[in-house]
This record gives sequence, structure tokens and C-alpha cells, in this order.
Amino acid sequence: MDGETFRHWALQAASWAADYRAGLGERPVRAATRPGEIRAMLPPSPPEAAEAMEAIFADFERVVMPGMTHWQHPRFFAYFPANASPASVIAEFLTAAMGAQCLLWQTSPAATELETVAIDWLRQAVGLPEGWRGVIQDSASSATLAAFLTMRERALGFRGNGEGLCGHSRLRVYASGEVHSSIDKAAWISGIGGENVVRIPTRGPRRAMDAGALEAAIAADLAAGFLPAGVVACVGGTSVGAMDDVAALVGVARRHDLFVHVDAAWAGGAMVCPEFRPLWAGAEVADSIVLNPHKWLGAQFDCSAHFIRDVDQHLRTLSIQPEYLRTHGHDEVTNYSEWSIQTGRRFRALKLWFVLRAHGIEGLREMIRNHVRWSQDLARRFAAEPGFSLACEPVLSLFAFRHDPGDGRGGDAHMLALLQAVNDGGKIYLTPTRVDGHLAIRFQAGAMDTTQADVDSAFDVIRDAARALTGRP
Ligand SMILES: *Cc1c(COP(=O)(O)O)cnc(C)c1O
Repeated sequence: MDGETFRHWALQAASWAADYRAGLGERPVRAATRPGEIRAMLPPSPPEAAEAMEAIFADFERVVMPGMTHWQHPRFFAYFPANASPASVIAEFLTAAMGAQCLLWQTSPAATELETVAIDWLRQAVGLPEGWRGVIQDSASSATLAAFLTMRERALGFRGNGEGLCGHSRLRVYASGEVHSSIDKAAWISGIGGENVVRIPTRGPRRAMDAGALEAAIAADLAAGFLPAGVVACVGGTSVGAMDDVAALVGVARRHDLFVHVDAAWAGGAMVCPEFRPLWAGAEVADSIVLNPHKWLGAQFDCSAHFIRDVDQHLRTLSIQPEYLRTHGHDEVTNYSEWSIQTGRRFRALKLWFVLRAHGIEGLREMIRNHVRWSQDLARRFAAEPGFSLACEPVLSLFAFRHDPGDGRGGDAHMLALLQAVNDGGKIYLTPTRVDGHLAIRFQAGAMDTTQADVDSAFDVIRDAARALTGRP
């Protein structure tokens, strides 16, 4: 592609993106596509001859767009947000245009130094004390895997990488049942094993891990000859926002010299607001924390902030320097590939820097405070509405509710029918979860362009769908 053609299509793409964002509210939130429908529109084999950008771009609109679910839609209330602030989109374009590999300091010094600064700005923004260092990982799942590897190596005296796990005692990690599936996967991949993630019961409306039960489980494992390695604290569980008492868990962990990893992938973003920081009190004395700027904070996927208190342990676990990666004479510099699972690294710091500057921490706080207030107002309306009930206490901008028509037709099947009716309508998008064995519908407000009117509109959409299903006026 010659320079002028590139300019033309890059401008087309920019113009398309601006129109797309401006018109998002008019589109159905979730793709109304049947499995295989998009694939059927695509040729089974690649083109032998080059095609014109006109044709490729036209097919993007004709074939791809109908099969997209719109995560930036102001009435996207499913899962968790995956915000892509316009500032972040622009930074990603620049990153893509440069196409630099940012694995070592010398492969792009600005990328490394900007990462050090942007992640430290974020540390300050969420109120973590000095002494914490950070790195941008691709995802919370990778950050958690890195934390599991460090946990494992610490417990094995840093012999696991070399010797493997045979011949060592069985390692144990402790977590509640509210943690994300990436915790189980990290246990699989780190060789610790999913069966060695000991599930500690939770208590109270926050579904916090029972610290007494944790203490008892560790004691029982020690007596049985197991090797306790670490504790995973859940700050904002994916299902209904479970919140562990991190300080209490750290207290228990310290008595047994265990590593504590805090998964605050979603809720960690809210810590830019000082009033929410009591929710993760104790995180500041844990060993590792992950929070995703690619969720609430608007630095689009992938941008996961991994904060680490003892970088030496982390590097002893993950750093590997084959001859071709040695930076002779530059050993005082940071080489972030030694901090992560992957070797090649995207320039992710650029979008975080753009976002923090374009919104300011105060702008991010205002957005999050609005989402929390609007969502909790909506939860109160459901709690007061006949037939509806909350499945658990709201946490930040997340809650889950149920509907019971009161004629014996309630239960899981009715909840699924209600969810499908709401989502098929296309006005809003919600996802289900299971709370205490029964289905419930989750609601979270988090998209950057969501307004109070968008959140309020969910009430009418859901209530009308429930009425239509039950045949009531
Ligand atoms: C979203 C989420 C994850 C996974 O995040 P990725 O960045 O997609 O790996 C892990 N834990 C929690 C609590 C989450 O909300």
C-alpha cells in the first residue's frame, strides 16, 4: 500500500470510528446473529490475488459489523465494562502505526520509561503507597499467572523452575469460591494444580473469605504435610462483586509466610475514588495486586496493571536472559519482558498515558461515582418493585436481581426467559449469574458514555419484559 492510499484509508477509518461512536445508541446492544451466520458470508479460502481496500472495507461494514456486540454502547450493562476511551483509541492507532516491539529498554526506550511513569501515576491514583512497583500485563489472567509462579517459587526456595515440581511437597493456595476462573487456570498452568486451590467458605453480605476458616485450613494442610504457598484475595468478584477482608487475610498469611495476591481486576479501578478504598483495605500490604485499566478506566483492552511489592522475588521467578536478549552495558535499565510471561510486548503504556491525561483522575472519579450512584438507585427501585428482589447487596455499580411472578412459575427457567426477552429486545444487554444456587440477572453500569437516563431506562425495559412474560398489564 503506498503512502497516499494509507493516508486515505486511515482517514476513512478515523471518520468511520467517529460516526460509529456517535451512532452507537441507535444500534441494538447485542449482535442478533445465529452461530455460523457470519462464517457463511466469508469465502473458505484466502485470496490469491491482492484485493482493493474498497472491497475489504465494504465487507468490514457488510459482513463484520452485523456480528458485533457493542461494548461501548451506553446501555451495555452485561459482564464488566471494557471501556475504550477515544483518547485510548487514538493512542492505539499510533501504537499500531509504529508497530514497535517493547520487550527491552533498548528496543524502544520511550516505551519502557513511559510505562514506568504511567504505571506509577496509576499507583498514586489508586492510593497505593510508595514502594510498590508496577508493570502493564496483557490481562489480569496473565498477571495472576505470574503471581502464582512467584508464589510457587517462593514456597519452593526458587527451585521449581529448574527442578520441576516432582519430589516437592504438594503446594496449596487458598481462595474463596467467589474468585475468577483465571485463578483456577493459573493453578493449572503453574503446576500447582486445580485440586490444590483450597476453597475457603465465605461469610456475611460481602461474601468475604472467613479468616478463621483460612487459618484452620492452613493448619490442617501443614499437619498433613502439604506446602502452603499463598492466598488469593477477591476484591470485586465477577459474579456479584464479593469483597474479601484483605487486611484480615494478610494477617493470617503473614503468620505463615504466605504470598498474597489481590484480584481487583474490575473493582480496583474504583480506587481512584478515596471513598471506595476501605473496600480493599489491606491491599497496600499484600504482595501483588492486579487491576484492569481496560475495564472501567478506559484504557482499552489490553491493559492490565500488575503491582508488585517485592520485585526481586518476581524477577527471580520470571527473568530469563538468553544471549540474544542481553543488553550489554545497559543493565541499569528496566527490561519489562523480564516481568511478564510473554517476550514480545505491545506499547501499552501509550494509551494509559493518553487516558490519564485526557480525562484527569478527577474525570475518572466523576464517571465512576456517577455509575455507582445511578446503579445503586436502580437497585433500590427493583428492591421496592413488587415481584422483584435483589439477589445480594449491591457492590459499587454492580447488583443482581430476581423476578418472581408469584404464581409458581418463577425460578431459573423464568429468569432465563426474562433475560432472553430483555436481550432480544436489543435496548439493553444483561448477563446472568448464579447466586446461592439460583439464577439471577446481573446489572452493572460502567460504559463511559452511559448517562443516568440510560441506567433509568433499564428499569422500564426489564419491568415491561417481566409483565409481558407473565401476561400482566
Ligand atoms: C475480568 C476479570 C478477570 C479477567 O480479566 P482479564 O484481563 O480478561 O484476564 C479476572 N478477575 C476478575 C475479578 C475480573 O473481573
